Amino acid sequence: MLKGKTALVTGSTSGIGLGIAQALAAQGAHVVLNGFGEYQGAVDAVHAAGATHGVQVDYHGADMSQPNDIAAMMDFAAQRFGRVDILVNNAGIQHVAPVQDFPTEKWDAILAINLSSAFHTTRLALPAMLAAGWGRIINVASVHGLVASAQKSAYVAAKHGIVGLTKVTALENATTGVTCNAICPGWVLTPLVQKQVDAKAVQYGVSNAEATKLLLGEKEPSLEFTTPEELGALAVFFCSPAGNNVRGVAWNMDGGWAAQ
Ligand code: NAD
Repeated sequence: MLKGKTALVTGSTSGIGLGIAQALAAQGAHVVLNGFGEYQGAVDAVHAAGATHGVQVDYHGADMSQPNDIAAMMDFAAQRFGRVDILVNNAGIQHVAPVQDFPTEKWDAILAINLSSAFHTTRLALPAMLAAGWGRIINVASVHGLVASAQKSAYVAAKHGIVGLTKVTALENATTGVTCNAICPGWVLTPLVQKQVDAKAVQYGVSNAEATKLLLGEKEPSLEFTTPEELGALAVFFCSPAGNNVRGVAWNMDGGWAAQ
C-alpha cells in the first residue's frame, strides 16, 4: 500500500517508534530511522519487516532537542529519498517530580523533544508534501495529551501541546492531500515505561510482576499494555485511503483510560 513512499520516524531505535517503522516498512515504505543508542538492530528489524517489498532503510542520529540537527536530518532524508511522505513525530522522554521540585532543565528538554521537535519537522516536511499533493503527519502524543497525571507537568503540557499542534496542522491543510493526526497510547511496555515500573518496584518493595500490576491497575481499565504493533497498525490506517478524511483527531489506544 505504501510502496514508493518514504517515512521518517523520530525516536525509532526502540519502543513505539520502532514498532511503527516496522509496520510502515511492511506496507512497502522506505524508512529513515532516528534516535539515540545502538541503532543497527533497529535498522535490521525494519529492513526485515519490509524485505518482501525491497524497502530501503537509513538512519540519522539528530538530537531532537536541537533545531539545527533536525534541519540536517530533514535535508538528509530529502537527499536520500527525494522527500518525506510520512512523518511520524514520536521521540519523547519522561521525568516525574512535583511542579515545585521539577528541574528546569528537564522541563526545557521535555518541551523541546516532545513538542518543539514536531513543530520543526512539520514545518520542514510540509512544503514537499504539499507540492506532491499527499502527505501524512502522525504525532505520537499520549493519553496524557487528553488527561493529566500528577508529577508529570512537563510531559502533560507537551502532550496537550502536540494535540493542539496536530489540530492546527490538520486545519491549515484540510483542503489538501496532507492529513495530520495524533495517536494517544495508554501504557506501552517500552524502556520509557519499564523505568516507571522499576521505580514502583523499589518504592513498594515488590517484584517486577507486582509493580507492573500496580502500574496498570491505577489507570488502565483493560489491565493490558497497548503494544507497538497495535500502534503501528493505527499508523498504517492513517496512511491508507480510508484515512483520507481523518483530520485532526487525537485517537486514544489506552485500554479505556480516558473513558473514566
Ligand atoms: P522509548 O524510550 O522506547 O523510545 C524513545 C525514543 O526516542 C528512543 O528511540 C530514543 O532514543 C529517542 N529519543 C529520546 N531522546 C531523543 C532525542 N533528544 N533525540 C532523538 N531521539 C531521542 O519510549 P517509547 O515509550 O517508545 O516512547 C515513544 C513515544 O511514545 C514518546 O513520545 C512517548 O511520550 C510516547 N508514549 C509512550 C507511552 C508508553 O507507555 N510507553 C505512552 C504514551 C505515549
